[in-house]
Amino acid sequence: MAEPTYLDYAATTPVDPRVRDRMLAALGRDSGFGNPAAVTHAFGRAAARQVEQAAAEVAALVHADPAYVVWTSGATESDNLAVIGGALFRRQRGRHVVTVSTEHKAVLGACAELERRGFAVTYLQPDRDGIVAPQAVAAALQPDTVLVSVMHANNETGVIQDIAAIGAICRQADVLFHVDAVQSAGKLPLDIAAQCIDLLTVNAHKACGPKGIGALIMNPVTVRRVEPLLWGGGQQRGIRAGTLPVHQIAGMGETFRLLAQEMATEVPRIRQLRDTLWDGIRDLPGVVLNGHPERRIGSILTVSVAGVEGESLRYAVNDLAVTSGSACNSASGEPSYVLRALGRSDAMAEASLRLSLGRFSSAADVARAIASLRAGIQRLQALSPEAPAA
Ligand code: PLP
Repeated sequence: MAEPTYLDYAATTPVDPRVRDRMLAALGRDSGFGNPAAVTHAFGRAAARQVEQAAAEVAALVHADPAYVVWTSGATESDNLAVIGGALFRRQRGRHVVTVSTEHKAVLGACAELERRGFAVTYLQPDRDGIVAPQAVAAALQPDTVLVSVMHANNETGVIQDIAAIGAICRQADVLFHVDAVQSAGKLPLDIAAQCIDLLTVNAHKACGPKGIGALIMNPVTVRRVEPLLWGGGQQRGIRAGTLPVHQIAGMGETFRLLAQEMATEVPRIRQLRDTLWDGIRDLPGVVLNGHPERRIGSILTVSVAGVEGESLRYAVNDLAVTSGSACNSASGEPSYVLRALGRSDAMAEASLRLSLGRFSSAADVARAIASLRAGIQRLQALSPEAPAA
């Protein structure tokens, strides 16, 4: 059987060969294998230069200060460090946090941990399009609120939140604002000063970089420290101990350099492919789009199909590498909590497909996907008594 067509870029992405080359170079004996903290000798200094270069490349994409890029093992750790570390750092001021029910589990899990540690968390509900009104965030703030965490673009639906407006509200109230921008980095403009972001989560593997590396980017005008989650050798100003993985960091630097370089051409190209995909299936009876019709990043298309069963739907298109909801949710087998929060029934949340495109997606991939989806959905609906009439 031919290899399935890859349409799961929101879960992870193939590593760009240019990123791989830079990582391999960083692993070479003569290219600075040293410990970047060992600046007393040339090996350490060469490694430190690679880390500095990567920090500058990552910071440039979001207009941040490279000195305040904290390297982590990925976005899960960055989200935990921001939410738990940020809230604990400000715990003398209060013990209330605001977030949204459709956040990634890395944020929701960190909020649950804060609740176990005596914090109160308000979980805002988005509207049926997946959007949280900035006014709802303002209304949820209390005198003891210390942190608000709202993601930029949702990983299941691609829906975009108005982070600049929410950021302005938080800044006015002197509340820390954390944004998970894993799905939007390199796809939407990000500027931590202009958007009033205090803590920003990014990673490499959703953008054609390696897994196992991410960053928490801090805005030093408003926050220079959070409580650490890891204790050790005091690296990264004591915020995140551990010897820096130079090859991973170099890979993330190259990933972000390429995002900045190619954003202007790649973003419209991928959006066009995504729109062609939607146009190719939207007339099928029972097929509905999940999330706001326009306010979505251009790489994700999430649809539900009425009258068919989720498992059969995925089986019917098994020549496409796609997930139902997020990759994490597919593992749990539960219907997506994100789609449920948008008012979808269990059945519609179950019978959903997230189709996500990226750098190596082509018009041929989209044509194959349309053919497979049309054939698969029509075949299932012909067999189903509950299927909507054509
Ligand atoms: N946040 C969002 C929005 C994501 O899509 C993901 C990916 O699953 C994560 C966080 C976690 O990222 P990582 O795999 O780097 O821990």
